[in-house]
Amino acid sequence: MDWALIQQRESDIDSTVAKRKTTQRRHSLSLELENFLELLPPSPTIASVGPVDLRKFLIHKDTMGRTQVHDVQCQFLGQVGLKSCNCPVRLASSYVSNIISLLKDIFERNGRGRTWDVKLWDGNPACAPIITDYLKVMKEEQAKAHILPKQAKPLFVSKLRAISDFISQRLICTFDPCDTYILARDRALFLAQFFVGGRASDMSNILIQEITVLHKDNSVAIRSTFGKTLRGGDGDYHVLMLKPLPDVRICPVSALRSYVMLATALGIQMEKGPLFREVHPGVGVSSIPIQYSSIRNNLRGYLIHLGIFEGETPHSIRSGHTVTVSLGPSQLGPESVAAHVGWRSTAAVRHYSRSRVLKDAVVLASSVANSIKDDGLAESLFNRMGAK
Ligand SMILES: [Zn+2]
Repeated sequence: MDWALIQQRESDIDSTVAKRKTTQRRHSLSLELENFLELLPPSPTIASVGPVDLRKFLIHKDTMGRTQVHDVQCQFLGQVGLKSCNCPVRLASSYVSNIISLLKDIFERNGRGRTWDVKLWDGNPACAPIITDYLKVMKEEQAKAHILPKQAKPLFVSKLRAISDFISQRLICTFDPCDTYILARDRALFLAQFFVGGRASDMSNILIQEITVLHKDNSVAIRSTFGKTLRGGDGDYHVLMLKPLPDVRICPVSALRSYVMLATALGIQMEKGPLFREVHPGVGVSSIPIQYSSIRNNLRGYLIHLGIFEGETPHSIRSGHTVTVSLGPSQLGPESVAAHVGWRSTAAVRHYSRSRVLKDAVVLASSVANSIKDDGLAESLFNRMGAK
């Protein structure tokens, strides 16, 4: 028996699990809860705490919020940002809902099951009715106060074009191989993400082996089997499709092609492995996929440099895609325009950006390509609606 091999595999798996975002969030919430319970007489533990004390923890956490819940009489009702009135400042209900899900997980992992038994007063306290009611009340209060779920500020094609132009200029001036790689990579990544409407993490998961260039019109098809919404198995896969655009400044296909050409010219192996890779300062281009923090920092860096930063994150690119498709002149039908009211409702997002079959991918790619023909339209419509 090769115990060393088994041990090695065990520690690899453990470290993968430990590095996951959810694991880290669960761990820090768990610590926070333990610290709170210690101060609460008679010092219950994660193994013994009941729903009443758990709700005290949620109320305590609520004091750390930044969402002002205005009274219906308040003049600031429906406005964003902290105001001078005395209305309470709370956590956004969507965030509380996430905390409760994490708590359910924490208790389940501590052997407390996935249900709460009211009769025996035992089980998973985060599943108790008192907690469900707490969340319901928060949601109602915030709905009455006209608080909409927090949404990333959408990034439209006008800003992408500005970034793309900036990168093109920089590429002419720079002689540093790492800078060249980063600039070409970022442009290809942002444009690809915008036109497929994917998550930043979907972009970093793309493997070169998954890419096919369709010779009919030079479209690029990416067949991916792993992503946030897709954990593999069931033979299920997404096809992400990129269509060439007449405007080369924002054409995702030419950005991708010039990225691959530049990287190859720099001596980077571009036949297999992650398409977009992390660069380690002083060391060079690594073989690991680009990290979310690099995507976020670089996007922010370009926007700040150009003086057009408004708090965007990589998720803004996905939001911009959704709005552009929903509001653009792509003739997707009135229901998609009507969907603007609830475009943050998952239905629209799912419909337009998580299409699972090739046919959907082709329709989607063409409709985004059409939508940006009049690229100011979606942006101006969106702004006119006063959406934030
Ligand atoms: Zn107020």
